[in-house]
Amino acid sequence: MGFWHTGYLEFHDNAGLDFAYRPQRLIYHCQHCGQHFDSMDDLRRHRFQSHPYTCPLLFVRGIELGATPFRVTRSAQPSDFVVELCTIATFNGTPREPREIPKLLAEVSHDKVKVELGNDGPPAVFELVFQIADEMHLKGVEASFLQFANRKLLTVRALEVFIQECRAFNTADAYWGGICDYLYGVLAKERAPDSSLPYDEYRERFNRAADALLDYDRSLAHLVRSLVAFHFNHFEDAALFAPPGQLHMASMRFEAVLKGISWDEAGTPARKPSNAPEDMLTDHETLRILRWTQLPLTELAAEAENIAALVKCDVPEFDRLKLNVLLAEAYAASRDAVHARKTARELIGNAKTAGWAERLIARLAGEEQNT
Ligand SMILES: [Zn+2]
Repeated sequence: MGFWHTGYLEFHDNAGLDFAYRPQRLIYHCQHCGQHFDSMDDLRRHRFQSHPYTCPLLFVRGIELGATPFRVTRSAQPSDFVVELCTIATFNGTPREPREIPKLLAEVSHDKVKVELGNDGPPAVFELVFQIADEMHLKGVEASFLQFANRKLLTVRALEVFIQECRAFNTADAYWGGICDYLYGVLAKERAPDSSLPYDEYRERFNRAADALLDYDRSLAHLVRSLVAFHFNHFEDAALFAPPGQLHMASMRFEAVLKGISWDEAGTPARKPSNAPEDMLTDHETLRILRWTQLPLTELAAEAENIAALVKCDVPEFDRLKLNVLLAEAYAASRDAVHARKTARELIGNAKTAGWAERLIARLAGEEQNT
């Protein structure tokens, strides 16, 4: 799982996708502790001070490479590659000076490359798959996706038609492949009758999709990555990649509420209505969660029964966390302290929600004393 490691975001034309947007800022994540930094230098400084490992490292556009092959999908400059803690190197088996590696990597456009970096300790081996996508192919995938989304019907058959259309766009195959992986995941998660995947497979598909789309700097890729991050409750990352709208607002609100900001102060409802690509990519449970999360507390309170009914269903643990936060806030707002406390207690054991749950329970106790 590596999709939230970092994002070096730039704006590109988006082939008429109506959710084209400019991410707010460039951001670099530490994949070891999740902290964010505004520059690659700050990230690297933090990386060595806080996580002093001695293995050689290879970064691509701020992403620290691990054991999984990394797919490079946009043309790169030598400065996009950074080699650290390395005294000897090989490039596809040939010995090279470590300082030559970035330039050699930047010259590749369609190939698999193996880089071995060494120092006094055991060597580190990195695999990179270069497939620089043709702009026309990327736009072709997006145009096909837009048509697919406008038909507003997600079935295995409809997805196969989309795949058939995309086959011509071979330099962008990981792009449409990532989108399809994600949508097969949605079908499994929704237990679609024509899906042959087991239910639990959706997690693997979501992660695979986010990994495949890591280096695509396109709105559609950002949207999928944001939905995956939101599903796995990485709200800060979800907010970074989400276009303006319900998903962005919900990510911001969850992030803020869990940090201690009150529900109503933590966001105002998204004014922009959702759009066809976003609807097509959002599974039923997430859609309901997004809609509830837009509501001010007074309206959320009126939804307590509906939220409770969904919590009782067989929903993934990640969705259950969001639903229980919604439910506890709804109960608290409707002055049902008993149920609010009971719901909040279920989230005390989770590091992400413990602080919020304790604050809510303390607030309820305070309110009871005052009445
Ligand atoms: Zn860190």
